[in-house]
Amino acid sequence: MSEKVVPISDKFHYIGPTDGDALVQALSKALSGSSDTVVEYEKALAGYFESRHAIGISSGGAALSVALYAAGVRPGDEVVLTPTSPLCTVYPVLAHQAVPVFVDTRPDNFGIDLADLERAVTSRTKAIIDIPMWGYPTPAIELRNAAKARGIPLIFDLAHSHGTKLDGKHLSAYADLSCFSTHDRKILATGEGGFILTDDDRLAEVVQSYRQFGNLNGKDLGLNYKLGALQAAIGKSRLGLLDGHLQSRRNNAERIAADIRNPRVKEFTVLPGSRPSYYFMLLSLGFKDNRAFIDHLDAHGIPSDIKRYGCKTLYKSPLLKPWTRNCPNAEALLDSITTIPVHPNIKAEQVNRIVSAINSYEGV
Ligand SMILES: *Cc1c(COP(=O)(O)O)cnc(C)c1O
Repeated sequence: MSEKVVPISDKFHYIGPTDGDALVQALSKALSGSSDTVVEYEKALAGYFESRHAIGISSGGAALSVALYAAGVRPGDEVVLTPTSPLCTVYPVLAHQAVPVFVDTRPDNFGIDLADLERAVTSRTKAIIDIPMWGYPTPAIELRNAAKARGIPLIFDLAHSHGTKLDGKHLSAYADLSCFSTHDRKILATGEGGFILTDDDRLAEVVQSYRQFGNLNGKDLGLNYKLGALQAAIGKSRLGLLDGHLQSRRNNAERIAADIRNPRVKEFTVLPGSRPSYYFMLLSLGFKDNRAFIDHLDAHGIPSDIKRYGCKTLYKSPLLKPWTRNCPNAEALLDSITTIPVHPNIKAEQVNRIVSAINSYEGV
């Protein structure tokens, strides 16, 4: 292959038409996390996501850390999560000196396998974290019911899932605490940043307090995890673009799905009645050597998160080896998928290139 291929970018970079004005306006007010600018952004987030409370936090990782604290996780407690999550989801668990307990995923979905949850839960389980990877919804209603029945707080890591819906509601409607990142690579981007959604007044109060040093009252613990006003200004400015961006992502994914002719490739299963955010489109692969197919796409300038991050079950990382647990579905799931960028900057010509690279692959 001598022709040069220009790689398709997997990063969605844009400047919103109102970003500049929003920043200038924010500069005329307080810039700290206690600024009115942050309160206005939080109101806009609560409205968009139909949540009782939206609380700005300095990052997605910080949001997870605050949510774990609010759920009552303390040193030695156990936190259940799937090993298909990124390291960023589990590190906050370790930072609280809690014990990660890995539970298997479902065979064809990143959601928690309820039978394995039964086996994994103990009297020390203080939180369950579910992570809908790449924005594909998990069966949240069954999980919520299982968590409720055991009285264990349910946390969603929705860093990939701004706009993911199930039965007409945002996924956050089904969790006690939902954590979002607005890091520069995410669907809603503010550079660095995040937020927590909850419908629970008491949890909201703990989150509010913890992110500002427990209000420095000398009684309640906390750290400074507030979101800065400039990030909040960009977030509010860009929130108005989110529905349009989600629609472009869906359109790109639908066009790719409609034109796949390779019998060993299909779109990842979408739960009935649900709508993925399409942070990335997921393909299910049925080749003898799926990595060879991913390399083939890469050679055609189509990047994969599986290749970029070398996605493997978390307990295969040296730091997490002590918490190894048998999760065969999770292993098989990560070995059988790849990601395709479908963000709004992907052009029709690039969609065609993706489709023809998928269809022209001759491996079996
Ligand atoms: C990006 C990400 C995080 C961390 O968010 P930051 O804002 O970078 O701290 C956590 N969980 C998942 C699933 C992510 O993709």
